[in-house]
Amino acid sequence: MPLIDFKQVLIQARKEAFGVGAFNPVDYASTRVIIETAESLDAPVILQTSAKTVSFYGHKAIADWVRHLAEDTTVPVSLHLDHGKDLDMIRACLDHGWTNVMIDASDLPFEQNLERSRTVYELAQPYGVSIEAEIGEIHGVEEDIVVEEGHGSVVDPEKAVLFCEAMDLGVFAPAIGTAHGIYKGEPKIEWDTLETLYGRIPGPFALHGGTGLEDNIIQRCIGLGCAKVNISTQLKIAFVDGFCDYHRDHPQDYEPLRVIGGQMKSMSEVVRDKITQFGGAGKGAALLTSIGETISN
Ligand SMILES: [Zn+2]
Repeated sequence: MPLIDFKQVLIQARKEAFGVGAFNPVDYASTRVIIETAESLDAPVILQTSAKTVSFYGHKAIADWVRHLAEDTTVPVSLHLDHGKDLDMIRACLDHGWTNVMIDASDLPFEQNLERSRTVYELAQPYGVSIEAEIGEIHGVEEDIVVEEGHGSVVDPEKAVLFCEAMDLGVFAPAIGTAHGIYKGEPKIEWDTLETLYGRIPGPFALHGGTGLEDNIIQRCIGLGCAKVNISTQLKIAFVDGFCDYHRDHPQDYEPLRVIGGQMKSMSEVVRDKITQFGGAGKGAALLTSIGETISN
């Protein structure tokens, strides 16, 4: 199955109140684990690449892996750019077949953020690619940019409504108190804000900073429109720990493919747990039928 834009998938997910896992791969093996695990659960899945990862391997290599691995799947697979800030990076993603891109101009004042997000929206239109855009800054470290706790700003619902009316977003990322990386204390989710947004904005939301959030918090967010749930840090931990654990348990084994196998097993468990927890299992093939094939490029 060719890659598809996640917009219709997320609209349906919001309707049915389940979450689609959005995972950040860091190499070919992690890309494969994410797609194979999603397929084994019959779940839709989003592969989202950080700009750093794209710069490391190049656009073509990543697009080729993902396209090749998704080719024979029976579930919806999307290739998304996470926290895009640079227009050249975004343009190259569009040219290479990314099915979705995020523009993160959330560090700019509202009007400038809106203008920049609209620019990317217009850029993506001819490609048939829907976009993710963010307002309010999410705490933590993403792309080496640090937003200190207490310095992230929670989204203003009035501005959020204006923002979403100004363009037809694939998914909207409001800052609601979650953070990137590992939580230092109890995260303080702005439930009133999220409930207001849910009542006023009909499209799906993206929940950033999913790693380390209690299951019941994620569940409640999904019930309030967070149809895309991002998991990055937890997969990074599984990537490194999977490697180290295998080597600790098999100190004489220097066969790289078995070591990678250990690493993949550890990542697969994270992906499986998250997809199951978010309620995406069993939805994949049916979604493809219900939304038709929105084929990208
Ligand atoms: Zn994020």
